[in-house]
Amino acid sequence: MIPYPDTLLYIDGVWRPASDGRVIPVLDPATGGRIGTVAHAGRGDLDAALAAADRGFHVWRLTPAHDRAKLMRKAADILRARAEDVATLMVRENGKPLAQARLETLAGADIIDWFAGEAQRAYGQVIPSRAPDVLQMTLKLPVGPVAAFTPWNFPINQVVRKLSAALAAGCSIIVKAPEETPASPAELLRAFADAGLPAGVANLVFGVPAEISEYLIPHPVIRKVSFTGSTPVGKHLAALAGAHMKRATMELGGHAPVIITADADLDLAAATIIPNKFRNAGQVCVAPTRFLVQEPLADAFAARFAEAAQRLRVGNGMDPDTEMGPLANERRIPALEALVADAVDHGARLLAGGRRIGNEGWFYAPTVLADVPVTARIMNEEPFGPVAIVNRFSALEDAIAEANRLPFALAAFAFTRDTATATRLGAEVEAGMLSINHLGLALPEIPFGGMKESGHGTEGGSEALDAYLETRLVTRKG
Ligand code: NAD
Repeated sequence: MIPYPDTLLYIDGVWRPASDGRVIPVLDPATGGRIGTVAHAGRGDLDAALAAADRGFHVWRLTPAHDRAKLMRKAADILRARAEDVATLMVRENGKPLAQARLETLAGADIIDWFAGEAQRAYGQVIPSRAPDVLQMTLKLPVGPVAAFTPWNFPINQVVRKLSAALAAGCSIIVKAPEETPASPAELLRAFADAGLPAGVANLVFGVPAEISEYLIPHPVIRKVSFTGSTPVGKHLAALAGAHMKRATMELGGHAPVIITADADLDLAAATIIPNKFRNAGQVCVAPTRFLVQEPLADAFAARFAEAAQRLRVGNGMDPDTEMGPLANERRIPALEALVADAVDHGARLLAGGRRIGNEGWFYAPTVLADVPVTARIMNEEPFGPVAIVNRFSALEDAIAEANRLPFALAAFAFTRDTATATRLGAEVEAGMLSINHLGLALPEIPFGGMKESGHGTEGGSEALDAYLETRLVTRKG
């Protein structure tokens, strides 16, 4: 097995420790033990990254799209070739099962490939003019150096969407990747470095997230901000970006409803959505959370959910039998314990789980709550863990009202055999993404993003590139 490394900063094409030698410990969520360190950038390191990104931008924006795309495809191939080692590092630092880490790494390579294609399709327009000797055209130009902030739940996926879109557009970037899971995103950057990315075009830093964002976002070199994480932090960073007139993409929290109507194929729904709840131990912004099941199916569905939760094999992500690993952070254990206790206090029925497993590592049992009143905290706050809520409804409009009750509007799911119902849900459920009768989210070619307090902008589909481009009008006479 590849040894777990001490992760360095990557600035101006060089892997280097923090200038003052500071490091942050990295822990294994399956044991709680220290497995390595990550360099802790100080102000001087950030200044070096900013200067590098500024220089790198002027090199990269003049690199033809064809050549940018070619280099990106090479990086994707390098990442694929190294997927097994990269996935192993990800399991050690994040805890997820190896099969999920492998899939995430390979999907990362597909995202790079897709954005490489988009690099060559950043078309401007020629706009019919009012005079025969006037040419009016728009150019799509890279917005400039980007500051990107990514969380620990998908160490590669969260970085690769921002990095690939920025590089495809011709931007340079400083990535502040997660301190909890630094080694696998560092391998992603290494794939680009080894593919020949010019120095300064992509830089990687770690440290105290708030210190880094407060410094980078207002800095004049930075022209675009992209953040994935919680809604409160997103609001803070969006305000900071707004105060300095920086463009921003915000991919924030969710609390996905799953509407299952009485005519739904319950076997299909159960087989599809129940395992999805426990993927990545539920630490997923688009995780299904509020299951709204139409009578008379609610009790049968809740019973199947509880049985599946109790059967799920929870363990170390490196064990091939493991279906769900530990939580990635110790702080999520008390957070989940408090949410579940509060739900039970409010009268919810605990059908499965609801407790920590053992005292080594950060394992939390797959948990199912039923009949949870809307006054319980968990009906209003993103659990971000392996906890499902199964509630019942009679009339479809009540389920739609419940789906739309929260300020979150990221993902939603539905199972129904009725086309009219599916059409109505598509029109009325407030969500950036609605997946009906299957799990169809997060492919590179389709939009990925939220509405309301789940943020704005998309990190997938052709619009994702627009976030890194600006439109310049050139009008010429003669
Ligand atoms: P948190 O709010 O402390 O941090 C969330 C992420 O934001 C982390 O990666 C963190 O490093 C980063 N962050 C925090 N403050 C920051 C700042 N001032 N500037 C820049 N980055 C900052 O919460 P947490 O305990 O790490 O995670 C729990 C919550 O975060 C969850 O409830 C969930 O809502 C949210 N989260 C969402 C996603 C997602 O995919 N949308 C991913 C991870 C966490």
